[in-house]
Amino acid sequence: MEDFQIKYNKTSQLLKKAVSYYYHGNSCACQYPRFMQIVGINCIHYKASFKAWETTLLIEKVKPYFEIETLKNGSENTNEKWTCRKCKSQFNYGWSDFSIAVERDVLFPIKLNAKEKGEKAIKPIPLYLGLYGHSYPSKKEITNVNFDAFKTYIMEK
Ligand SMILES: [Zn+2]
Repeated sequence: MEDFQIKYNKTSQLLKKAVSYYYHGNSCACQYPRFMQIVGINCIHYKASFKAWETTLLIEKVKPYFEIETLKNGSENTNEKWTCRKCKSQFNYGWSDFSIAVERDVLFPIKLNAKEKGEKAIKPIPLYLGLYGHSYPSKKEITNVNFDAFKTYIMEK
């Protein structure tokens, strides 16, 4: 395996760049369909048990741009309401672990105020670091691509 840590750091830097691009000027991440797609990857939708590294990384990078409120109830182990500081769109954030080895987080919109811009999301979802877990969706849903292809997808101009 190509050193996972190197690949991870490379992806982390790229996603940091993507996030600073989203918040450039008046815009915010909520407007970008490909952002929404990747932070919203939820293994439960595929009746599988995995995490997508890109999902966790992108949620982590975007976190400072949201007001966060803990919710007492919800279907996840951790449930939070995230409100975009710019457009006030609201999201639910959830974190759950399915086993000692597999945990995942997810962010999905409950009230969107932003007007969509940027390139449309496509399927299969192209990821570079990809998935980790016990069971996976078909390659028609999520597929592995090289770094440049993922970079092009996420830097959508
Ligand atoms: Zn927003």
